Formats: sequence, C-alpha cells, structure tokens
Amino acid sequence: MGKHPYRVVITDCDHGSIEEEKEEFGKIGAELILTQVQDEKETIQACKDADGLLNQYTLLTRKVLQNLPKCKVISRYGVGVDSVDLRAATDLGIIVANVPDYCVDEVSNQTLSMILALIRKTAFFDRKVKSGQWDFRQGRPIHRLKGKTMGLIGSGKIGLETAKKLAAFGVRVIAFDPYLGKAPEGIELKDLESVLKESDFISIHCPLNDSTRHLIGEREFGKMGKKPIIINSSRGPIIDEKALIQALQKGLISAAGLDVLEKEPPDPQNPLLRMENVILSPHIGFYSEESISELKRRTAGNVSDVLTGRKPFSVVNREVMEKTRAFLSG
Ligand code: NAD
Repeated sequence: MGKHPYRVVITDCDHGSIEEEKEEFGKIGAELILTQVQDEKETIQACKDADGLLNQYTLLTRKVLQNLPKCKVISRYGVGVDSVDLRAATDLGIIVANVPDYCVDEVSNQTLSMILALIRKTAFFDRKVKSGQWDFRQGRPIHRLKGKTMGLIGSGKIGLETAKKLAAFGVRVIAFDPYLGKAPEGIELKDLESVLKESDFISIHCPLNDSTRHLIGEREFGKMGKKPIIINSSRGPIIDEKALIQALQKGLISAAGLDVLEKEPPDPQNPLLRMENVILSPHIGFYSEESISELKRRTAGNVSDVLTGRKPFSVVNREVMEKTRAFLSG
C-alpha cells in the first residue's frame, strides 16, 4: 500500500471549490483526485484504481463500472442518481449513495417566498413603484392568507416542511399523496380531485416520473374550484405548461410562481415571461451557500463511511447490501 490507504476520484463537479471534500477525506487519509472526465474511456482511465467515486453528471455506465475492480461506493452529489447504471452497480456489489435531504429548508422557503410574493403582489408593486406609480388600488384584489387552504401534490420531506411553516400563518394544509399510508401531522390527505377543488394555493412537491409527467394538465386546471395560485418548485414537466398558460389566460387560476419550467432556460417567446401574475426563478430552490456546503460534505461522507466500514446515511440500491464488495461492520 502506498502513502494513502484509499484513493477517491471525483469524476466531475461544477461547484468550484472542493474544500469540504478535501477536509472530509483528510480525516481518513484518503487521496482525493478531481477530474472532469466526459466519456467512458476517460472515466475508466481516471477511475480504474479508485476505491470510491464522487459523481455529478458523468455517466457511469455498465461498461465503466465493469472496469473499476476496486470501487466499493459511488456517491452522487444530490438526490437523483440517473447518471449511474444502478442495476450494473448492484450486480457488481458497488454501493450507490446519495444525499436526499440537503436542501429541504431552501426549497420549502422558496415555495413560501413565492406564495407570499404572489399573495401580497410584491413583484408587481415593486415594478409599479419603480416606474413612478404609487397606488395600492392597482393591485386589487389582495386577499388575507390566514384561514386559506393550501393543497400539496406530494407530501414528502419538502411538502411536510412547507406545511409546518405554513401552520404559523394559520393556513389549513391538505395533500394528495397516494404513497403515504398515514397523514403526516397537520396535513389532511385527500384525493386529487378534492385537492384541486378545495385549494386556494396548490404547490407541487412530488418527484418527476412517468406517472407524474403532466399530472397537472387541462383537465386538472378545469377542476380547480377556487382560482388558486399555483406554485411549482419541484420539476417543470409535472405541469403541462401549455395548459398552464391557457389556464392563466382564461383566469382559471389567479397566479403562478415557478422555480422550474418544462424547458430551462425558457425560450424568449414563452408567454409566461410576459405575464404580470407570474413570478419566475431560475431553478434556485436547492441553493444556499449552506446547502451546497452540506451537500459536498455529505457526498464525501458517504464514501468515507463505506471505506471505513460503516453503512452510509442513504443507500439508493439497497439490494446491494447483501453482496457489497465493501467490508461493513453492520
Ligand atoms: P420526497 O421523496 O421526500 O417526497 C416526494 C413525495 O411525493 C413522496 O411522499 C411521494 O409519496 C410523493 N409522490 C410520489 N408520486 C406521487 C404522485 N403521483 N402524486 C402525488 N404524490 C406523489 O421528496 P422531497 O425531498 O420532498 O422533494 C420533492 C421534489 O422536489 C423532488 O422530487 C425534486 O423534484 C424537487 N426538488 C426541487 C429542487 C429545486 O431546486 N427546485 C430541489 C430539490 C428537490
């Protein structure tokens, strides 16, 4: 064995500094190598002697993984692990870990900031005042937040955190989440139709997959009984954007706050860019200096856990635990 007991390779990352990763791996004396590999050949070449990998976007295909004989763990910066061939990793006994909860505070705040900005018409008045107009009547009607109903589509970590914060505003929270057996505290579970019908605000917090793509479309906008404000800080394609634009034009909904869009960045001619009752942000829900620092530290922590014999906080391919290459103490 050389100077370092372990070799860890970062396949790619766009976070600028890797100070947190260096610090984490310094604790176990691991050698840390940063690369920005793009294709299979480069990846195999850079990672063939690695005991563990940190990965952002570079594709870790079956062919790549078959050529990493020492690799025991891959930790992905973030929640999704689309860049890794999970089945191949499992077949080969490689643990794939992620960091599922590094930005729950940030995304729930993003959601709240959009609700507050839309209900108080903050962006609208800011534009008016700066253009020399000082007249609260231009923003009529404005409604009270207290006593209103928020409908969540998906009530996992971010939905629940949003609901907890909304409780302080006196908002009733209902949710559609077909995978929750039991309602989380403070939330009433309902079917989708009831959520669409009863909500003054609707906020999307489910993952994007085949069953949620365009979950909210023309039919669903037609069932929204209270002209709600719609917030999407999850993934753009969960809402059918064409139907959303029509719903705004027809007045079926009163406003929208969107951190995510079907196409990011949007085409300059996207009508959403010109609507007064729409506020947009460039997919920043996840971001704060603290969330990124936590993400980097915990992505590295997953790898150092496995290399030093511990099970990481979040394993994506749980079946791998029966045949892992790593030596874990339990
Ligand atoms: P989570 O896994 O804790 O919760 C997701 C919830 O959605 C679960 O309770 C699940 O049962 C539910 N769900 C699944 N399919 C559903 C369906 N068809 N209808 C209704 N509910 C359904 O995830 P989370 O941490 O709360 O994150 C939610 C989403 O937020 C993520 O999937 C991601 O797309 C998005 N996100 C966005 C940003 C951002 O920067 N804007 C950052 C992080 C996460």
